[in-house]
Amino acid sequence: MSGRTGSPPAAPEPLRGEVFDAHCHLDAMGVRLGDASLDDASLDAAMAAARAVGVVRVVTVGDTVASSAWCVEAAGAHPDVYAAVAVHPTEVRGMTDADYAALAVLGALERVVAIGETGLDNHWDRTTPAEQEHHFRRHIQLAKDVGKPVMIHDREAHEAVLRILREEGPPPAGVVFHAFSGDADMARECAGEGFLLSFPGVVTFRNAPALREAALAAPLESILVETDAPFLTPHPHRGRPNAPYLIPLTLRLIAQVKGVDETELCTAITANGARLFGWD
Ligand SMILES: [Zn+2]
Repeated sequence: MSGRTGSPPAAPEPLRGEVFDAHCHLDAMGVRLGDASLDDASLDAAMAAARAVGVVRVVTVGDTVASSAWCVEAAGAHPDVYAAVAVHPTEVRGMTDADYAALAVLGALERVVAIGETGLDNHWDRTTPAEQEHHFRRHIQLAKDVGKPVMIHDREAHEAVLRILREEGPPPAGVVFHAFSGDADMARECAGEGFLLSFPGVVTFRNAPALREAALAAPLESILVETDAPFLTPHPHRGRPNAPYLIPLTLRLIAQVKGVDETELCTAITANGARLFGWD
């Protein structure tokens, strides 16, 4: 399971409300398509486990052209799965016009709700900052071309990501920061621009007080929640495989930090998702 170890964590108590997972990688979780069996690796099983705790939709996100095509196929195979398509900033080296043409075809499809994940990643050095910036700009343009929001990957690159968004002009359909990792000031700045902040399981980590302050600072109408499964598994299951059915652990922590009822937070996130992604 992509370097995750151990057995899948037990399901948390179901949410008192319905919500969705704004960002996961069903392919990297090892989910199989085109297989009607209900074993643990099937798409139906993953979505049934999510729905059982109140997670009624997921956005599965591509990080290469092939993975984006897989995500579109997954969205076609299950009514509660939506796709985002892009090439991840650490994978952009050597991208061709043909790759962008392929992404444009996928990105225009009805069940594709965003162009992402795209952005900048200063943690890994598989691509240069100049390469990443060039391709981030092309992905922003692609989002405008297909009329979809852009879903941003910002790893240790807050200033540059905000600068490039400003220079290019954000896509009118919207901007969401996947796995938001900024502080309270950045949360306020992004919310002020109308960007959405998608909080991952990191917000539950003991060593992430600044992210909890960001969640506190973010208005309810700016918040989404995500797993980034199979990565970023929430406390107390760090290091084990993540999956959409673990959303309640992250959502409850955010509700606690903000002093709101979990039902109220579910309702706000559902409304934010409908507004951004255009589903009903
Ligand atoms: Zn991701």
